[in-house]
Amino acid sequence: MSKKRGENSTNRMVKVENPWALGFEEVLSELDVDQSTGLSTRESRLRLRLYGQNVLKEAEKKTALAILVDQFKSLIMALLLAAGLISFAFGEWLEGGAIVAVIVINAAIGFFTELRAVRSMEALRQLGKVAAKVRRDAEVSQIPAQRLVPGDIVVIEGGDIVSADIRLIEASKLQADESALTGESMPVSKALTPVEEGALLAERKSMLYKGTALTRGSGEGVVVATGMNTELGRISSLVEEAHEEATPLERRLDRMARRLIWVTLAIVVLVAGAGIMRQKDVLLMIETSIALAVAAIPEGLPIVATIALARGMWRMVRKNALINRLSSVETLGATNVIFTDKTGTLTENRMTVVSIVVEGGEVEVKGDGLEREGRFETDGREVRPGDNALLDRALEIGVLCNNATLPEGQRREDRSVGDPLEVALLVAGAKAGLARPELSERYPEEREEAFDSETKMMATFNAHSGTFRVAVKGAPEAVLGACTHVAAPEGRRELSDDARTEWMERSINMASEGLRLLAFAEKEVADAGGKPYEGLTFVALAALLDPPREDVKGAIAACHHAGIRVVMMTGDQAATARNVATAVGLADDGAEVINGADLKSPEDLSDDEKRRYTEATIFARVSPEQKLQLITLQQAAGQVVAMTGDGVNDAPALKKADIGIAMGLRGTQVAREAADMVLKDDAFSTIVAAIEEGRVIFTNIRKFVVYLLSCNISEIMTVFIASIVNAPLPILPLQILYLNLITDIFPALALGVGEGDPQIMDAPPRDPAEPLLTRAHWKQVGGFGILITVAVLGALAIALEGLGMGDTQAVTVSFLTMAFAQLWHVFNMREHGSSVFNNDVTRNAWVWGALALCTGLLFAAVYVAPLARVLKLESPGLSGWGLVALMSLIPFVAGQVWKSLRKRPAQICAATT
Ligand code: ATP
Repeated sequence: MSKKRGENSTNRMVKVENPWALGFEEVLSELDVDQSTGLSTRESRLRLRLYGQNVLKEAEKKTALAILVDQFKSLIMALLLAAGLISFAFGEWLEGGAIVAVIVINAAIGFFTELRAVRSMEALRQLGKVAAKVRRDAEVSQIPAQRLVPGDIVVIEGGDIVSADIRLIEASKLQADESALTGESMPVSKALTPVEEGALLAERKSMLYKGTALTRGSGEGVVVATGMNTELGRISSLVEEAHEEATPLERRLDRMARRLIWVTLAIVVLVAGAGIMRQKDVLLMIETSIALAVAAIPEGLPIVATIALARGMWRMVRKNALINRLSSVETLGATNVIFTDKTGTLTENRMTVVSIVVEGGEVEVKGDGLEREGRFETDGREVRPGDNALLDRALEIGVLCNNATLPEGQRREDRSVGDPLEVALLVAGAKAGLARPELSERYPEEREEAFDSETKMMATFNAHSGTFRVAVKGAPEAVLGACTHVAAPEGRRELSDDARTEWMERSINMASEGLRLLAFAEKEVADAGGKPYEGLTFVALAALLDPPREDVKGAIAACHHAGIRVVMMTGDQAATARNVATAVGLADDGAEVINGADLKSPEDLSDDEKRRYTEATIFARVSPEQKLQLITLQQAAGQVVAMTGDGVNDAPALKKADIGIAMGLRGTQVAREAADMVLKDDAFSTIVAAIEEGRVIFTNIRKFVVYLLSCNISEIMTVFIASIVNAPLPILPLQILYLNLITDIFPALALGVGEGDPQIMDAPPRDPAEPLLTRAHWKQVGGFGILITVAVLGALAIALEGLGMGDTQAVTVSFLTMAFAQLWHVFNMREHGSSVFNNDVTRNAWVWGALALCTGLLFAAVYVAPLARVLKLESPGLSGWGLVALMSLIPFVAGQVWKSLRKRPAQICAATT
């Protein structure tokens, strides 16, 4: 019995030699696959096991064991180990055992937090993976590109990134940018015909290679090599796929932590020296200083930062913003200019043709949105097909010069495929009974001149009784510029300069109502090889309605309020741009619109012009290169720029922007790859939500750093002062370690994952040059450190002198004062000027959970006998507890008063554009 292709292969790897030199049928047969059905799911699974994942170098996944081992490689662990050994050496078995317990708990907490952070980051990275369209089991579906196997049939189109080495089996006007492999920057045309065996990579027109980009066209191909077996894999075993580096923020934290290690160690040696000179017990002083070092070294900062970043990024995902590059999160918070395009970001991108203007009058197109039922009217009178020959011609051009498809039958448009502008033209044609399949049969398409954002036109050459009908559509000024004649009811006549100006004015008038304008033209030629945009006959103007998105107005107002400028950079014409900009509140009625054609190149700009360009809010008819220049200009003026883009041509500008934003729905893979962030819903409001999250993450990180450092400093100061005056140590070594396990971890983590202050968008963006902790933050660290120190030493003095307690009981009081003062101190991390009871910290459920847990652990330390014995604690009694409550509240109360008195930094009330 013969087996069906693509169903059951032997367990042998197949390598097709020189697939570019073979006919594609032969390649399909060697790979044992049928083009119409593709591989079966079962077979693809077998092949995946056989060939491995389609990745360049197995992205290294950090194993749980590696994370565990890492926990023991830190300086803190070394210090703890030293402390443990010293205790054992001095015969302090209980103490030594307790330190071993601390080591185990420390490692366990470190392990679990890091494991979570690492896995969470890995999961985030998976979300952004490139997808490929493949045919399996006779159905086309999207799969993650790393699951492609040799023999898979892939469907490709312009804008895609090629994800494996592919032998073409269908190609329509396909062009690829292979500069990543060949260095050749011009796109190369692709075709099915085999090429010579010895052809160089750049000459293999029948192949597509992993890592290159399709600039236009469409087609199908069969995968011949994946992963490291691809050309890209072979020539660059050094290339690693998307290896995520530490972000600048994490690096800054790491650097700060390292510097603080040395400062801490120096202080700790000083403390030990002071204590020993004061004739304190040598072992006690050594252990105390080691414990202090352990507590004060902020080694956990980078990992808490990672957790804060990961959680914030998940919140962004929930709001439809996917971050490609971790470092963008902090840049987002500092963004102060957003360059946005218009169609689809500010508007719905659901277009409807509302009117068609031909010589002799305007025809309104009635019928709801994308419904194919509708009618044509002039001055309230119905115009039927055949009544107005020019209208019929215009509709035909719209349907012929088109790459979209409408689904069969009379259903709604939601399954239509293609550019919404072209879909709208098909719908308009359908209203007059024109269907693309029938029309294409009558006028078969011979050649297409694809839409190009430089020419702003598109043309098709359609065969018709021995000649070719060239159908052209495009931007009115471009099409009018290419026309020599105009079609009139009585026949065609020459297009005078006056008539051209009149048509242009008409188009501007309609555009100023917010409509998007398109012009139609045609000509007849004998040969399909000639230039399309010459000697055309102008036929009609079509006006399309693309309403602004509902949520945009609010989002733009929020940006202005947050000190972020929004600038529109559109390929559309000035009048449409201004109308939409006014409708969404981006600019005033009289706002200046700068036209791409008038933009000078950067080297010719005077200072005044530079200022004018950086202050303008609307740019119309700009090309992707001009977008790049405008970004550079803004960046030179010190701005942090976010920019949206969706086309292949937008990739350089997306890379240049501080935050490149691509569209998940309508964007190309090339744009998505180049971008730092992808909007899953294409909505402008998502950008604003992401900026808000970016700000929240940054402030959260600041908060826990300030919190942790002020707690650490208070511990060092307390012990230092106690050891130079003749007082017992207010906290003993094991107590310090216990405290460190409690406060350093739970409340700090809780602060790191807070949801943020709702008023965070009331302030201007952070200055990108600002350090993580400003002078004001360091003052806070010092100030709070001193307050806690005063409270603890005060409590110790009152317990000893005022209440006449013994040393152990008094030290219990000072220990508890320190612990609770640090716990309450978490509330001092609220925003300046926020309400005492209702603020971002009090609303953070994690904070309350952390406090409850820590309080429980502190009571356990005092009242669970074995623990109390190890920690040398005893019940402080009612008066002791009263003292603890009173003294521990001092830093809290002082902090709250200070926070309430100070205003928020530079509130923005009436920010203008
Ligand atoms: P934005 O940059 O805000 O998304 P846009 O979509 O209008 O605006 P482009 O896609 O560069 O920008 O289009 C520029 C102009 O080219 C449009 O205003 C329109 O007149 C014309 N145009 C757009 N798409 C097509 C097309 N498929 N065929 C012919 N002309 C088109």
